[in-house]
Amino acid sequence: MTKKRIALFGSTGSIGTQALEVIRANSDLFEAEILTAQTNDELLIQQALEFRPNAVVIGDEGKYQKVKSALAATDTKVFAGEQALVEAADFDTYDIMLAAIVGFAGLKPTLKAVDKGKTIALANKETLVVAGDIVMQRAIEKHVPILPVDSEHSAIFQCLVGEGRNRIEKIVLTASGGPFLGKKPNFLVNVKRDHALQHPNWSMGAKISIDSATLMNKGLEMIEAKWLFNLKPEQVQVVVHPQSIIHSMVQFEDGSMKAQMGLPDMKLPIQYAMGFPQRIKNDFPRLDFKKYPSLSFEEPDLKTFRNLALATEALYKGGNMPCILNAANEIAVWAFLRNRIGFLDITAVVEKTMQQVSFIAQPSLEEYFDSDGEARTFAASLIQM
Ligand code: NDP
Ligand code: MG
Repeated sequence: MTKKRIALFGSTGSIGTQALEVIRANSDLFEAEILTAQTNDELLIQQALEFRPNAVVIGDEGKYQKVKSALAATDTKVFAGEQALVEAADFDTYDIMLAAIVGFAGLKPTLKAVDKGKTIALANKETLVVAGDIVMQRAIEKHVPILPVDSEHSAIFQCLVGEGRNRIEKIVLTASGGPFLGKKPNFLVNVKRDHALQHPNWSMGAKISIDSATLMNKGLEMIEAKWLFNLKPEQVQVVVHPQSIIHSMVQFEDGSMKAQMGLPDMKLPIQYAMGFPQRIKNDFPRLDFKKYPSLSFEEPDLKTFRNLALATEALYKGGNMPCILNAANEIAVWAFLRNRIGFLDITAVVEKTMQQVSFIAQPSLEEYFDSDGEARTFAASLIQM
């Protein structure tokens, strides 16, 4: 069997480093063809020296020389800058793009890979939140499989294998509830960055950790699910399941429900997407039900975690509203991570931006970029950045 050549966009992040662990453990199946980072030159160099990719891209052009000299003795080509990311996505020499850049920045290279006809293993949910209609339409035209890496969507995808044309009645996305499950606004108002970064079940990058704490992550995932599985908004339901053992569920038209379960470990959905349709043997710890005598489920508290309500509103509204929501959230989370605004201000920034930026029912790609820019500018003005 020929090895699958992986273009790992965002190789220095939480998903990126775990994907490299999967590649390292399965060097007979995979090889790293392209690695990219934004600013973390040290780790990118270290990864390139170990995995010897064909090319690396460092987003921050100021770091080009350092990366270039560190890799001078190797065959790895070095590129820098935002445009180079898109150009690397256009290479012929890889089979799968693992889209693991965080945020809107992942959209352009991922779209380029879709246009190029490459299989996408998608972690970067913001790509579908922002422009899901365009990305999915192009993927259909190019016969490009978009294989979910996000654990909930991987769960749904796994439940659908073998179901052919059987229709989905609804999906149930499980949410851990994050570090502040059960808390009320009088507690949340004082929450600080470091506390919000502590997730009970998953270890993730900073942005998604905050999104998990505000429940925005689940809202983004509802929108992601709508596009991935071609669902109507009312077919997407969220339930809080604090143990994070059931990763999500699908209910079919006969009322039967399938769930995918396992210990929370992102390496599993990463390797499932990379290896699909083959399951790859591993020695990750196994789920032992005796250690989880009860699995519990509850309604999300939409009054306290209003980001989830706002994202649901954007899901139903459609058009450029999810794009506006996402842009405002990226700015607000950025500001919260720098202690510029409080935890509850994140919601206020998102809500005001959604009210401000003009709604477009069927945006073109260019209009999505414009809406993103407009929303960022307005959100930043609220924070006085
Ligand atoms: P991290 O912040 O850990 O990593 C992000 C990666 O993207 C890094 O390699 C970073 O480079 C790079 N990057 C950051 N900004 C830019 C930019 N402007 N242009 C190009 N590259 C950039 O994020 P995660 O790995 O946690 O998440 C990645 C994506 O996967 C997100 O969309 C997230 O929602 C999704 N996801 C993550 C999960 C997780 O468990 N972490 C679970 C499910 C989905 P550098 O290191 O140099 O900054
Ligand atoms: Mg998820």
